[in-house]
Amino acid sequence: MSSEALFKEGISDSLVESIEDLIRLITEFFPQADTQFIQKAYEFSEKAHEGQIRRSGEPYISHPLGVAAILADLHLDLPTIATGLLHDTVEDTDVTLEEVEKNFGEEVRHIVDGVTKISKMQFRNTHEKQGENIRKMIVAMGKDVRVVLVKLADRLHNMRTLNHMPPEKQARIANETLDIYAPLASRLGISSIKVELEDLSFRYSQPEAYYSLVQKVSKKKKEREKYIDEVKRVLEAEIDKSLKTHVEVSGRPKHFYSIFKKMQIRGIDYEQVYDILAFRICVETVSECYEVLGLIHNLWKPIPGRFKDFIAMPKNNNYQSLHTTVIGPQAERIEIQIRTHEMHLVAERGIAAHWKYKETSRGQSDDDRSGEAIDKFNWLRELVSMHQQTNSSDEFLENVKTDLFDSEIYVFTPKGEVKEFPDGATPIDFAYSVHTDVGNSIVAARLNGKLVSLKHQLQNGDTVEIITSKNQTPNKDWLKFCVTTRAKSKIRQHVKAEQRKRAFQLGKELLDKTIRKYGHSPQKFLDGPEYEEATKSMGCNSVDDLYIRVGYGAVTPAQVIERIQPEAPQTEQEEEVSFLQKAFRSAANKNKKDKSLIQVDGMDDVLVRFAKCCSPIPGDPILGFITLGRGIVIHRSDCQKAFELDQDRRIDVAWSGSSAQETSRMVRVRVLSHDVSGLLKQMTEVFSINGVNIHNAQAKTTKDLKAVCIFDVSVRDINQLQQVMNEIGKLKGIIAVSRY
Ligand code: MN
Repeated sequence: MSSEALFKEGISDSLVESIEDLIRLITEFFPQADTQFIQKAYEFSEKAHEGQIRRSGEPYISHPLGVAAILADLHLDLPTIATGLLHDTVEDTDVTLEEVEKNFGEEVRHIVDGVTKISKMQFRNTHEKQGENIRKMIVAMGKDVRVVLVKLADRLHNMRTLNHMPPEKQARIANETLDIYAPLASRLGISSIKVELEDLSFRYSQPEAYYSLVQKVSKKKKEREKYIDEVKRVLEAEIDKSLKTHVEVSGRPKHFYSIFKKMQIRGIDYEQVYDILAFRICVETVSECYEVLGLIHNLWKPIPGRFKDFIAMPKNNNYQSLHTTVIGPQAERIEIQIRTHEMHLVAERGIAAHWKYKETSRGQSDDDRSGEAIDKFNWLRELVSMHQQTNSSDEFLENVKTDLFDSEIYVFTPKGEVKEFPDGATPIDFAYSVHTDVGNSIVAARLNGKLVSLKHQLQNGDTVEIITSKNQTPNKDWLKFCVTTRAKSKIRQHVKAEQRKRAFQLGKELLDKTIRKYGHSPQKFLDGPEYEEATKSMGCNSVDDLYIRVGYGAVTPAQVIERIQPEAPQTEQEEEVSFLQKAFRSAANKNKKDKSLIQVDGMDDVLVRFAKCCSPIPGDPILGFITLGRGIVIHRSDCQKAFELDQDRRIDVAWSGSSAQETSRMVRVRVLSHDVSGLLKQMTEVFSINGVNIHNAQAKTTKDLKAVCIFDVSVRDINQLQQVMNEIGKLKGIIAVSRY
């Protein structure tokens, strides 16, 4: 037996080489099972895949059979196991979904369909596509989790047989597995699959590190086995004495990938990893768990900070167990997990452990039961609903990753309810987890009675009380210091809605005013027959949409009038309007470059101008203000004038990084220096060496023999400006360099 097999934990590893093996496995846990159904699925699949050979040289049916065996090991229902057998038929053979339905019913068709859809998304490795993959997978899962369970079993079997693939393919599939499937298994609570996927991926993605670790771990095998036996003997004797019943203790080294991660995170060698051994004790009741914990802490010294009570505070994948690390015999650190048998089942099988069987021979689980299993996984529903609110798959992937990977801290509500958050969570995350309204109106928080800011990071065990105000509204800056999907998407949603609302009000104000100038009623005018075509031709779907675009400056009122009523009667105001229109156009042309520099949420064809008072340059923190008829004015966010403007017209804007290279922005630099001859020449040299054009320069000397120079220069961005300012500052005789 290989060292890997020796250390492998988990239950999903029954040896299934034939349909008879599979049926035996199923009837072991489900004696009334309709084995004809499974037999039929097997025969159907075998026939469909006839002639197909796997890379290993085995007939193709060995793969679906392996997948079905993994699903049977998880004790899933018969439709799911049948899907395991059939999962590749629609994708890889001539079989149609209709035939699947005709032979195996609608339920199986539905799961096969979902799995096929996910499979079609495979083997695309750009970041964007991967996000899309998970996103679709979550959607498929939201309707029926069994789709993803089959997909996980499919991936696990492929990983088990990955040695037949060429090495580059191995590495890519292994990385994808570590990126998506292992975390997914973990979040669905199926640790047996997670652990195996991680170790297999580790082996193929970093073979050198893997085999070197395998070698090191197996080196002291004899010694370690002796040690494990000793700990077991001591523990079992103590527990048996106290509980008056025999309890089996199991011990093993932790799985390779977890040891490897530990080495990486702490930057240490294998020899320095102390707590390699993990022991597990399964008992009958919760109170026995705590009793055993007491015994152990009495026997060996616990290491402070390592005790975790996941029984009182289950992880959000429903994992429950007590964890402690103690200094065992020979001063070795050992980790001990204590749980009930039932908790153990949930830990190994996760969401699948919540599957209950109908008493029928089909062993189907109806929607209610599947729903019950999903109910235990709140975050699943959140993900599905979040998916509907997120536009880009990148954003979604970022969110999913946070949700899938981190779940570290536990905090309390004032009422003592426990909430779980990813590391780095702040009161904002907490507030949104209570209710969207609480999140939207949070102004501060009290942590253990002490007032803290919204940026404060929550710590394990904190009691969090949220302070809200009716006048508060979510701020885009909050996105920088919250980590949960929920908070982020709610804030984004709010900011976007607010911005649109403001643009709408402004657009309406502007457009209605212009229409009235023509002597029309805005209502009638926009309801007119010409309206629909004209708005469509301007890329708007509705009057509201049109108002919003006018508000953002994407369309000018004059353009609207012109489209809807090209031969508008000349009125007294016409002159003014056409003047306005001209102004718009010339501004639009002049600012073509400026426009591409700036992005406004959801809009890229926005008319922008840069405020003269503060001349923002790419890289400066900026704010936008919607103006009457002249699009959006960009100020630096620390500009005094911006504070004086109507804050209701404020919108969030950002530099669009890509186009910044080709443009240049004017900026004024003031240099105060001693009146040294030749300094002006040196300064202009610095500008020209750095490729900065000087448009205008003035120099004055003051009474106290100092010189003030003002340069109007054009720069690419803040970095370039900083660079020249630094270099000038270093010249001999310079007192101060500032942006002016
Ligand atoms: Mn497959």
